[in-house]
Amino acid sequence: MSEKNIPYKIYLNEDELPKAWYNIRSDMKVKPAPLINPGTRQPMTAQELSQVFCDELVEQELDNTTPFIPIPDEIYKYYKMYRPSPLVRAYFLEDALGTPAKIYYKFEGNNTSGSHKLNSAIAQAYYAKKQGLRGITTETGAGQWGTALSMACAYFKLDCKVFMVKVSYEQKPFRREVMRTYGASVTPSPSMETEIGRKILAEYPNTTGSLGCAISEAVEVAVKSEGYRYVLGSVLNQVLLHQSVVGLETKVALDKYGIKPDIIIGCAGGGSNLGGLIAPFMGEKLRGEADYRIIAVEPASCPSFTRGKYVYDFCDTGKVTPLAKMYTLGSNFIPAPNHAGGLRYHGMSPILSQLYHDGYMEAVAVEQTSVFKAAEMFARSEGILPAPESSHAIKVAIDEALKCKETGEEKTIVFGLTGTGYFDLVAYEKYHNGEMTDYIPTDEELAKFFAQIPKQ
Ligand SMILES: *Cc1c(COP(=O)(O)O)cnc(C)c1O
Repeated sequence: MSEKNIPYKIYLNEDELPKAWYNIRSDMKVKPAPLINPGTRQPMTAQELSQVFCDELVEQELDNTTPFIPIPDEIYKYYKMYRPSPLVRAYFLEDALGTPAKIYYKFEGNNTSGSHKLNSAIAQAYYAKKQGLRGITTETGAGQWGTALSMACAYFKLDCKVFMVKVSYEQKPFRREVMRTYGASVTPSPSMETEIGRKILAEYPNTTGSLGCAISEAVEVAVKSEGYRYVLGSVLNQVLLHQSVVGLETKVALDKYGIKPDIIIGCAGGGSNLGGLIAPFMGEKLRGEADYRIIAVEPASCPSFTRGKYVYDFCDTGKVTPLAKMYTLGSNFIPAPNHAGGLRYHGMSPILSQLYHDGYMEAVAVEQTSVFKAAEMFARSEGILPAPESSHAIKVAIDEALKCKETGEEKTIVFGLTGTGYFDLVAYEKYHNGEMTDYIPTDEELAKFFAQIPKQ
């Protein structure tokens, strides 16, 4: 296929949309380690998990073998409202960089929630509704997950209770109003509404909150309320499964034009967008059919992959969740207050952790001022205002494209542009005013949090 035939945006026809999610675990020789009950130290059973999560989601969580899981009609219908998402050839960014590299990005910000999170939110709300539940509870950090879930709950007429990390609740009041428009109730976390919230507040009255803490509160409310379950927007196997729709679409679009990527890049908070984007490519790699360089990008101020420990740890600060084996900074870890770039979760998806541990992918940590510099360059060339999270991937895509400029290699780079940054303008403002600083935790600081990881 000649170069000039590749359109600026590659869309798919409706009949080219994936009809099933791809379960990457089915091709992993070493499966991700199971969730463990902290009390009994035994793998969590379906029955134990179903007290917290919806039944069918528990099944998906524990299914390490089924390669393709059909997307139910009701979910497929909703996907069609905003999918396929475009795969864009970044011609203008390539020009601005003067690189021979060919850069593509899969843009997931074309829905009101502004991110890829809707792909799993709609699935999780659907299974809750199917089970006859009244509502679901969750946490949200920057607010994208809470927004996505509120949209999904409005669609399926479910009650939605969101615990929002306090610092975001205060910094992003408009995000909260979007959620309330969709009918969700939003509580800043830690709150006085839960036992764990009251305990954390007594211990740390000035805390600005963390995802780990909001998770504890949301789980507590779900477990104590009749007809409610808890849902999580990242990290879990089921979420990576739903997000595989991103990678499957990307693969169909690239295959249509005979394009084979050399490098696939994604930002990594809990690992869901990256896990979804790379799924079918990693599948080929695991089956020995093709090879790709796969790079996870994380903030230097929250470096789970690059500096964390691969051990069993709690998924939340309040230690109410099961233990997951993952790269972790310790469940008490909270990034420095100057950190504005999202991706602030202390742990990492067990699937990606295992793949990284086994050498199937790389990880790099980048500093936030360099991330915002990349975001600005991207906005000025491609026109889209990127989310700070997504901009971690942009930063490393640019770095790789500049390496190609030096060597003259025409590599094909694909990265995930997970969302838009309209609610992150306080962070952009700090960057523009020259007030943004970088903070890299010292080994001593990290050691303090590692010391609180449960004994293995
Ligand atoms: C939540 C979010 C992320 C990070 O979450 P993952 O689970 O690691 O994908 C990245 N980008 C955007 C826009 C998000 O909303």
